[in-house]
Amino acid sequence: MEIITGKTKLLGVIGDPIEHSLSPVMHNAAIKALGLDYVYVPFAVKSADLGGAIAGLQAINCQGFNVTIPHKQAIIPFLREISPLAQMVGATNTVWREATHWQGTNTDVEGFLAPLREIERPWHEIKPLVLGYGGAARAVVVALKRLGCPEIRVVGRNLQKLADFAANWSEITSYDSSCLPELLPETELLINTTPVGMYPDTDASPIESSLIGLIQPGAIVYDLIYIPNPTKLLLETQKQGVIALDGLEMLVNQGAIALGIWLQRPLPVEIMRQSLKDYLGL
Ligand code: NAP
Repeated sequence: MEIITGKTKLLGVIGDPIEHSLSPVMHNAAIKALGLDYVYVPFAVKSADLGGAIAGLQAINCQGFNVTIPHKQAIIPFLREISPLAQMVGATNTVWREATHWQGTNTDVEGFLAPLREIERPWHEIKPLVLGYGGAARAVVVALKRLGCPEIRVVGRNLQKLADFAANWSEITSYDSSCLPELLPETELLINTTPVGMYPDTDASPIESSLIGLIQPGAIVYDLIYIPNPTKLLLETQKQGVIALDGLEMLVNQGAIALGIWLQRPLPVEIMRQSLKDYLGL
């Protein structure tokens, strides 16, 4: 996108707040690299205005859009159809236009899986440990089921919320955080889906330093947080010899899958990744 004209096609993201979204950075970098006449714009949409905003996007001929907090679940009744994957997660983050209506899917699942698919492991034997039971954890659990993990261990601080979350999937076994000393030594894949350690609380970690030594060398530690990069959790566990995966990979890959749905062509994923690294000063 060099110059916006009357022919320029519109893509975007809706959320509240939206100021800190990194999606415009990577999507516009990809659009520019592909030489396409599109522009990707962030839109601040309050929950009370969601229906009006979707009707408006339809009226102004928006081609497709991403959906972020707090609308990923609330958007579903406004869509004619959502993919089986989005149904499994119970959330939609990518919407595209059909002739007279919107359709949606969830690209967080495959975005999360992309870096794991690069690693050879006997996934059918691995029992991952997931910290947290919020929105991102829902996509993570569906992803781990897709990978073939037979049991998914979820640790959380509120036992009622944890039980409600676990009730959605038979593969989940739930534990409170006091069980970490027993769980960590046998954990081959640890995933942080909590915001603990996220900017500006960069000195925090979801695993206290005294327990880090229990994580085995060769384990995979995947932190969904992308600012800072790396997080304290990844810094400390890397010293243990783990394979560290950061949230930037999930962010880039879920974005690339979404853009692929809208543009129907191969995407410059490396350019998207580099645009984020440049923007974040990494
Ligand atoms: P969310 O729905 O608010 O869920 C947050 C979860 O973390 C809840 O289970 C919450 O438990 C728990 N939690 C919060 N503070 C905690 C604390 N101090 N100690 C222990 N548990 C705590 O948020 P989300 O949308 O799932 O996002 C979670 C994180 O994932 C964020 O850092 C977000 O940036 C990241 N994320 C990254 C990507 C990516 O593409 N890389 C995508 C989505 C999300 P309670 O309910 O008990 O508070």
